[in-house]
Amino acid sequence: MKRKWMAGLAACTAVALGILAAGILKETVKESSVEKEIQAYSDTDFAMDTVVIETMYTTGENRNSSVGETLREIEQTLLSWTNQNSQVSRLNQAGGVPTEVSSQLSGYLETSLQLSKDSDGAFDPTLGEIIRLWNIGGENPQIPAEEELEKLLQKSGYEKIQMEGTNVTLKEGCTLDLGAVGKGIGCDVIAKELQNQEEITGMILNLGGSSVMAYGQKPDQSQWKVALTDPRDVEGEYLGAIALEGGEFLSTSGDYEKYFIEDGTRYHHILDPKTGSPVHNGLTSVTIVCDSGLLADGLSTACFVLGLDDALQLLEKYDADAIFADEEKNLYLTAGMEERFELLKSAYTVRAF
Ligand code: ADP
Ligand code: MG
Repeated sequence: MKRKWMAGLAACTAVALGILAAGILKETVKESSVEKEIQAYSDTDFAMDTVVIETMYTTGENRNSSVGETLREIEQTLLSWTNQNSQVSRLNQAGGVPTEVSSQLSGYLETSLQLSKDSDGAFDPTLGEIIRLWNIGGENPQIPAEEELEKLLQKSGYEKIQMEGTNVTLKEGCTLDLGAVGKGIGCDVIAKELQNQEEITGMILNLGGSSVMAYGQKPDQSQWKVALTDPRDVEGEYLGAIALEGGEFLSTSGDYEKYFIEDGTRYHHILDPKTGSPVHNGLTSVTIVCDSGLLADGLSTACFVLGLDDALQLLEKYDADAIFADEEKNLYLTAGMEERFELLKSAYTVRAF
């Protein structure tokens, strides 16, 4: 049996381009005739089960450590499956009884369920038990028996989640797993916090290479740039670079992030909610850019499941740019993505949608 792993750290090679000249960069700007010095601080942290890389441009102190703290807090208090006291864990333990959640979580849940509806169930936040049965990304991944999958599929399905404001009911046996949007939510929370911190003029935040937030501007006004990983050469040269404006979010879902190979078949962590098994539709990665972290993250998962032909309508509805990579080394770009994408590898062919 041949198994190959490529988890967290490897994905992190896809750090934002152009921010690697770390250390401290000094720039001087004039603000209402008062000279203020903007400094750049780059740091690496660990939160949400992944490596966090951040560069902050500020006239104040280095506040990067508070970013990691905020991300860990969201994970622990809202989203975690391992912390029995997180709001998601409490919902999952409620056994069909209506449960009150915070307005913050109910907001995320509402947006997530709308995405489930809009994607015809391709994005489904009730697959937590099934992904754990596969144990993809864990110690002992396995191909589950059909009956086991069937049993869990009966209990899953986004329509088994009912909401009335902040009151949430999961049908007995159904569980909520916001793993596919967790890092995007993290990016949204940080972006919101930055708005109250005037001294911070710009920031790029990269969670595991798969979710990125761009905020404000760099002192030289140049665009933020994010590297795109080649799904079949994860540790090699980047496939391309994508330019972001402040206020934009990027997310990538790929079959190379968490997977194992058995008898020549790649079993990865993006599941088709209809079958409970990894999606095999020829795609190797989907990258989304839009103005919400949660939606970029959710859309990259949803579009990976939907495949090239069915994803376009969803992308238009959410006004999102996208790039799809496939096994044949084709890259399919939406019109908006064409303007922000730079190809760095000639082995790939860029095509319009
Ligand atoms: P990552 O966050 O690891 O970079 P994704 O955002 O694509 O990657 O999320 C993948 C995770 O989402 C899986 O590990 C699993 O827990 C969950 N998941 C898998 N398939 C789906 C799906 N169709 N809809 C919603 N969540 C999913
Ligand atoms: Mg996602």
